[in-house]
Formats: sequence, structure tokens, C-alpha cells
Amino acid sequence: MTDPKPQTSAVRTQAPVTSHREHSVPIFATSSFVFDDSEEMRAAFADEIDRNIYSRFTNPNVAELAEKIRILEGAEAGHATATGMAAVFATFGALLSAGDHLLCCRSIFGATHTMLTKILPRWGISHSYFDAWDPDSWDAQVQENTRLIFAETPTNPAVDLVDLQRLGALAAKRNLILAVDNAFATPIHQRPLEFGAHLVIHSATKFIDGQGRVMGGVVVGRADLVKKIFDFARTTGPALSPFNAWILSKSVETLELRMEKHSENAMLVARWLEGQKGVADVKYPFLASHPQYDLAKRQMTGGGAVLSFRLVGGLEHGKRFLDALQMCSLTANLGDTRTIASHPASTTHAKLTEEERLAVVITPGLVRISVGLEAPTDVIDDLRQALERSA
Ligand SMILES: *Cc1c(COP(=O)(O)O)cnc(C)c1O
Repeated sequence: MTDPKPQTSAVRTQAPVTSHREHSVPIFATSSFVFDDSEEMRAAFADEIDRNIYSRFTNPNVAELAEKIRILEGAEAGHATATGMAAVFATFGALLSAGDHLLCCRSIFGATHTMLTKILPRWGISHSYFDAWDPDSWDAQVQENTRLIFAETPTNPAVDLVDLQRLGALAAKRNLILAVDNAFATPIHQRPLEFGAHLVIHSATKFIDGQGRVMGGVVVGRADLVKKIFDFARTTGPALSPFNAWILSKSVETLELRMEKHSENAMLVARWLEGQKGVADVKYPFLASHPQYDLAKRQMTGGGAVLSFRLVGGLEHGKRFLDALQMCSLTANLGDTRTIASHPASTTHAKLTEEERLAVVITPGLVRISVGLEAPTDVIDDLRQALERSA
């Protein structure tokens, strides 16, 4: 076989087979690796030979996961970390220094927002936010000390899109590094490197695991940047456990199948929700009513699992609706086989002021659904009875 498809390579990639000739990869639960003699050990530490030394640096299971995501994203190199936030932090920590400025999309994951506002400023790293829906304003926000652009698309929880082509062009024109958090779309539905991004970050906790079991993170992209991130992580210690890496790596083998089904189910649910009594509007990238539907078709091949909708009765309506659900889970995660509902204004984004919430399109009645792999008719039945009982 000369040129297998990325999906094939991701399924078949495996840590080197041991003398037992196992078919399924074992868990390399070992803190360190042995050497035959002092010369071999010296050469490994000097980076003259490619060998595992210590599992805070590298481990076969961790490397296997990173390699699979590297292949699916079409990247030069990759590294896997303990969580998605560890991947975000290692990226910032490796690439930014005191005096640098980071330009970030306003709607970003809550912990990333907290990192920018509470942690990085203490080390002299400043940031400003750009609005996803106003690409014409982005260029003017680049400062002389801007080093990195960071964005997430689709955004959480509003399900707005950021134009990756425009962002890639801006990064190229102003000579900036562009990093994209691709947790929602996964490489199955969106490959940011093809639009000019230099790094792609994943919370593997979400769709890569896909079954709500373990935490993990991955960063892939340009080899020189990934090397810096690896060096930073190897010293600061956010190492992914071999067990979690093993779970996540096996999960990658079904990622395409799961994402296609998530998207199919989410589309059915989104279509059904449109026009239901009590629902003001529904946001899902591949609904023709999404204001950025054309952009969705340009940069994504599927809409993914996550949709949001606004209930007409505001905050109390949102809470009543969640209380009325009988099957869907109320939990902080997303990207599970099981459908998950959340009400951002009263939970994940309750700490923001009303003004801050509205700036990222979190209205009081906004509900986010991560559509799972149950029969979509059952998901719709649960939403129907909850809409009726909470009206
Ligand atoms: C969950 C999530 C993160 C953080 O990942 P963890 O694995 O929880 O650390 C970052 N970005 C997005 C978009 C997420 O959904």
C-alpha cells in the first residue's frame, strides 16, 4: 500500500510490538526505561538516539495517541498532555514571554479565559479579545508585541464560527502564530492546519475519548513549535498517564464513526427543535438558518454534536427545562455517547456579569445540548416532554 488514507493510518498506528507479538497494544505502565550501558544512556540523554527515558518525557502509549492525532490533523508533529488545559497552558508557556501580547477570540472555553485574565498577566503577558463575527476588525487589533492568535471554532456554548481562512491569512500577513482549539469539531470535521493554523489543540477528554471516562489533551502542528511545547511540558510535568493514553488511543480508532453519527443525530435534533413552541431559535453549524451556514460548509465537513437554543422564558425557563429532562444528563462534560444538556447562564458562566455573558452571546434562556449516540427519536422525545412540562 503506497498512500493509505489518514483514517487508515490512525487506525493502524501502534506502539512498536513487544516480544510477545501482541495485536492490541499493552499499557506501558512504567515510570522509566532501562539502558544496556552507560554509553547508551548518555546518548539517549544527549538526544543522539531516539529512546524513551522517563514517562514524564515520553511513553509509548502517549506517543501513540499523539501520532494518531498528528496523522488525522495532517500535522508535522504532536505531543499529548494530561488534560486539554495542560495543552493550552504548555502552548502559552512555551511560546509567550513577559511583554508579549496574545490576541484571542472572545468566546473561548471558561478555563482558557481565566488563564488569560488571572494567570498570564502576573507574568507580564497581556491579551485582548476579537469578535468572531467581525473579521474586518481583526487586523487593527494586532499590536506590535502580538505573538500568538488563539481561537476556538465552533464556539462554546453559543455555537458561532470563526472564519479560519481569514484568521490564517491574518496570521501569515502579520507573521503571527495561529493556534486553534479544535475540540468541538475534531479532525474528522475540521482541519485548521489546512487554513493556515500552525497549531491545533484538543481536549481529548471530549470527543476523542467520547465516552466520558478519562482526561487528556493533545497539541499538534509545526515541528519547531511542538518541540518547544514538548520541552516545556517535559520540564513542568503535565504528563498524560499511560492508562489514559491507552484509552484515548483506542478511542481514536472509532472517532470517525462516532463523529458521523453524532453529527447525524444532532442534525435531526436541531431540525426538530426549530419551530417548537417555547424555542426562540436554534444554532447548529449545518442548519441553513445558522448566520454562518456558508462558512460552516467552507471549513467543516460535519456539524458535530453540539447545538444550542434559546428558550423564550429566559433564566427560569432554562432551569425549569433542565429539571424537566428525564433521560439527558445534567453534567459538566460534553462529547459523550450520552446526550448532555446544560444551562450556561446558571452554571458554567454564572460568574460572568450579564454584560460579559451577552458579549459572548450567552442569553439567559440559552441551553446547550451535546447530542449523544442514543436513538435520536428518544432524545427528541425527552426534549419534547421537557419543553411541554417547562412551558
Ligand atoms: C473541555 C475543553 C477544554 C479543556 O479541556 P480539559 O480536558 O477539560 O482540560 C478546552 N477547550 C474546549 C473547547 C473544551 O471543550
